[in-house]
Amino acid sequence: MLEKVKGFNGDRVIEEFEALTKEAERVQRETLQRILEENGAAEYLQNLGLGGKTDPDSFKACVPLVTHKDLEPYIQRIADGDALPILTGRPIKSISLRAHPIGNGKALQFIYSSKQFRTKGGLLATTATTNVYLSQSYRNTMKDIQSQCCSPEEVIFSLDYNQSLYCHLLCGLICSEEVQFVFSTFAHSIVHAFRTFEQVWEDLCCDIREGVLSSRITIPSIRSAVSRLLRPNPQLADTIYSKCVSLSSWYGLIPELWPNAKYVYGIMTGSMEPYLSKLRHYAANLPLMSADYGSSEGWIGANIDPEEPPESATFTVLPNIGYFEFIPLKERGHEQKVENCASIIRHREPEPIGLTEVNVGEEYEVIITTFAGLYRYRLGDVVKIAGFHNSTPKLQFVHRRNLILTVNIDKNTEKDLQLAVEEASKLLAVEKVEVLDFTSHVDMSTDPGHYVIFWELSSNAREEVLSNCCDCLDRAFIDAGYVGSRKVRAIGPLELRIVNSGTFHKILEHYVSLGAALNQFKTPRCVGLSNCSVLQILNSSVLKSIFSNAYC
Ligand code: AMP
Repeated sequence: MLEKVKGFNGDRVIEEFEALTKEAERVQRETLQRILEENGAAEYLQNLGLGGKTDPDSFKACVPLVTHKDLEPYIQRIADGDALPILTGRPIKSISLRAHPIGNGKALQFIYSSKQFRTKGGLLATTATTNVYLSQSYRNTMKDIQSQCCSPEEVIFSLDYNQSLYCHLLCGLICSEEVQFVFSTFAHSIVHAFRTFEQVWEDLCCDIREGVLSSRITIPSIRSAVSRLLRPNPQLADTIYSKCVSLSSWYGLIPELWPNAKYVYGIMTGSMEPYLSKLRHYAANLPLMSADYGSSEGWIGANIDPEEPPESATFTVLPNIGYFEFIPLKERGHEQKVENCASIIRHREPEPIGLTEVNVGEEYEVIITTFAGLYRYRLGDVVKIAGFHNSTPKLQFVHRRNLILTVNIDKNTEKDLQLAVEEASKLLAVEKVEVLDFTSHVDMSTDPGHYVIFWELSSNAREEVLSNCCDCLDRAFIDAGYVGSRKVRAIGPLELRIVNSGTFHKILEHYVSLGAALNQFKTPRCVGLSNCSVLQILNSSVLKSIFSNAYC
């Protein structure tokens, strides 16, 4: 259990959580009532004819389900100066940490703030994670649970991702003895951080040896903040240097360099699963703790069994944090054909049910209504009910709902793509080559259309091996619609395009330049024609293109 520390009492949090989850149904009704009362004056609600009613049935009858697209006009109006309540962050008082109590120390956190900007109407806008890092209560909680970031604030709020990352690594090394855990919002940032470490470790050692910050850091505020922490420390530099040269392929890098770290923490489920094997490689025997399930709209569930491996992580819904509904998706036939647009509904869907009405083993799409956003928001996530904790369900994240790859009657999801890539990338192991990142595209410019998979590899692989990978990818999509269409040539051979090293980093930078949040960045797993800039980055980086010989 967490030690009782100033302002944050771990035992109390757990007690409250137990009490709330025992009476999930009542808590849900009361939460809905509070959300509707607090937001009763909002124009959005007034227009829906609820007439002050706050019970679940009236709510469901009057308030429509919405996707992000439906909300865009409202968001625009708010940006123009209408002061309705809109997406805000909530401080994370995660209880995931209870399995691994930490002592006095710090956290090596790869966190970055995204741009804050003033909208036309004068509102300060930024992303949920940035709001969280900015909030005083988050900072106080982190201090209270002894999880302060090693890096000064100037590093987190620098807006230059590469300079921030270098300094996070440097500050982490300077406090290497104190670091209790390693964290990033999403696991891919941790993997990216250590891949970068592999490139820059000698420069980091040099900075520590000389006590002078590398000239690659050019932003004055970061230079002065980090320089204040640097003293010439040849002994530490030697230790780091000899540890680095003794590692084999960087296996166990984290426990070697941060000997008191107790775990690695971040979101590791869903679209983060492809990064787990590399993360395990860096973490060796350190536990990987999958962080909670949340969204910009609000927190959803806590991982109360953090000792479980990320592949079987579940999230216990917090019934007082929002009002939750679930659309049953009994079978895959219910999946909509949605080409990246969740609002086009072609099938009649079952009615959403309440939090305590879900059944174990079944899959649902999640709808949330929160204090920050009072609309009934379709998250687009599919979850499976793994069980119950008291009377509140434990959710297992399955995948994003949108079908991402479809030419005709075939339906493949993000998860199907991930499994296909996992299967095919096993063939690269003999070459000691890894898939660093991947995405996909449906190319309809050929007749018939075909799937294109983009891979960025850690180094070159032989043509013959790549050709086997390509066949394997094609066969790994086992959806009956795909297999049938491939056999009758209604879908053309799958194409594997190998892209230059650094291509996915360019994609990340592209999104960041548009104001996307680094902490919340998830590689798009399917790039549609409408996303021309990303498609352009990918297509201009192709080194090799291989077509599958499967189904010949
Ligand atoms: P955002 O819209 O950037 O706030 O991201 C919210 C989305 O991130 C969710 O709808 C999920 O698809 C994804 N996400 C958040 N937490 C998790 C988690 N623990 N596991 C898998 N996906 C997650």
